[in-house]
Amino acid sequence: MAKQPMLKFVSLERSMPTKRDADQRNQDFHEIYAEFASAKAAEQSSRCSQCGVPYCQNHCPLHNNIPDWLKLTAEGRLQEAYELSQATNTFPEICGRICPQDRLCEGNCVIEQSGHGTVTIGAVEKYLTDTAWENGWVLPIQPKVEREESVGIIGAGPGGLAAADVLRRQGVQVTIYDRYDRAGGLLTYGIPGFKLEKDVVLKRIAQLEDAGVKFVLNCNVGEDISFQAIQGQHDSVLIATGVYNSRDFQAPGSGAEGVVRAIDYLTASNRKSFGDDVPEFESGELNAEGKRVVVVGGGDTAMDCVRTAIRQGAKSVKCLYRRDKANMPGSQREVQNAEEEGVEFVWLSAPKAFVGDTVESVLVQKMRLGKPDASGRQSPELIEGADYTEDADLVVAALGFTPEDLPTLWGEEALEVTRWGTIKADFRTHETSISGVFAVGDIVRGASLVVWAIKDGRDAAENILDHLNNATAQAAE
Ligand SMILES: Cc1cc2nc3c(=O)[nH]c(=O)nc-3n(C[C@H](O)[C@H](O)[C@H](O)COP(=O)(O)OP(=O)(O)OC[C@H]3O[C@@H](n4cnc5c(N)ncnc54)[C@H](O)[C@@H]3O)c2cc1C
Ligand code: SF4
Repeated sequence: MAKQPMLKFVSLERSMPTKRDADQRNQDFHEIYAEFASAKAAEQSSRCSQCGVPYCQNHCPLHNNIPDWLKLTAEGRLQEAYELSQATNTFPEICGRICPQDRLCEGNCVIEQSGHGTVTIGAVEKYLTDTAWENGWVLPIQPKVEREESVGIIGAGPGGLAAADVLRRQGVQVTIYDRYDRAGGLLTYGIPGFKLEKDVVLKRIAQLEDAGVKFVLNCNVGEDISFQAIQGQHDSVLIATGVYNSRDFQAPGSGAEGVVRAIDYLTASNRKSFGDDVPEFESGELNAEGKRVVVVGGGDTAMDCVRTAIRQGAKSVKCLYRRDKANMPGSQREVQNAEEEGVEFVWLSAPKAFVGDTVESVLVQKMRLGKPDASGRQSPELIEGADYTEDADLVVAALGFTPEDLPTLWGEEALEVTRWGTIKADFRTHETSISGVFAVGDIVRGASLVVWAIKDGRDAAENILDHLNNATAQAAE
């Protein structure tokens, strides 16, 4: 049996609290929380049956050695458990927080499938790495040798950062270019802080900076510097630019004031959490406080929008989705979280028109599910005459993202793209149609997951190292 956490009682005196009282309460809270978290991690880890058919591991994109680090955690060997978990994952504390575990490792846990509730693998992974940071087990990146070759990475999201980590450890000179003023990509400006605290991301960026990775921020490649100039300055280039073209509403009235894009709404909210001056938030344009909010979409971005609106003090929050709950692309766990927080889901519904110069309502058309489409999912079909009106002061479009047209924006026709506009990269090596130029993450996969961007970044970095080594060997011949 796992040891139960000790309960501590903090006296509740009625006198005015001093700063010292507050500090003490903070410390008490952290001690109680640390004991609780440690007991919980041990308890969960000891539930792993060590089944010998590690479906969890096979369904983790990084193939983390989950059973072994759960065993070490159950035995209280936390530092060893952490070392094993970080051997295959560059940012375990980030994945532990935001992987859709119900679709990956935990959804395939044998105990879950036998109906006894999954081992909470993500929570243990987060706990191990948070503990490692607190105890100084996360070591600085110190290359044994410095190499002369340099790699230019375009995009400071998880794909670019994971590649930078691998390359820098091998002594390669790394420069990351990003058009935002902060690094982190969607970890910083997309995913809300209640799912992923920003100091967790900042700590990793600081680790890379301390290791000598150069960040060139506010630098939009294609505008502030050309792609060709980056190619000329580095021995190899990695493209990790993500996908940022928002799909917009096609319905009449979609240009009304108060109809906004999810990425703008979430970026404003994240910027506020950094303490930035955000005029669109202050003016109320991108702030849900006191408003009747309608979010349209069924993916994780939509879930982030509805949960952000709740936290901003919206009067009501509804989520319209054209299919039903079973056919949502987003994580069911996220839907459950949103429902518990007071979000109302309106299934089988899509906007037909937006009413008002400043939006006042959405004309909603009801749908039913018809025959499966090419993807195997049932297609939504219109139900004639079943329209109704949904009042709204703020409508957020969370309809997904497509890639920007990089060959045109960068004047680089040799950079081949697929018919969806994603960059064509070799499945195994991640090399693009241009020799020495590699690509990873969403710009190759289309909108995907952080853990896949990390996997791609790590794998591409290994192939970039091979490319650099081959070039050096050829030069020496
Ligand atoms: C709202 C939202 C919530 C999400 N929640 C989750 C989640 O909970 N769990 C999960 O696993 N995944 C989630 N995702 C998906 C996940 O964030 C992405 O799959 C992942 O961030 C992709 O990583 P990336 O490195 O390919 O690109 P990104 O993280 O998008 O980073 C790309 C970077 O490239 C920069 N860039 C782009 N073009 C240029 C240019 N021309 N010049 C310079 N810099 C450029 C951008 O500024 C950005 O910083 C979410 C996505 C969104 C939109
Ligand atoms: S990286 Fe994601 S999928 Fe893999 S073990 Fe961690 S939480 Fe699960």
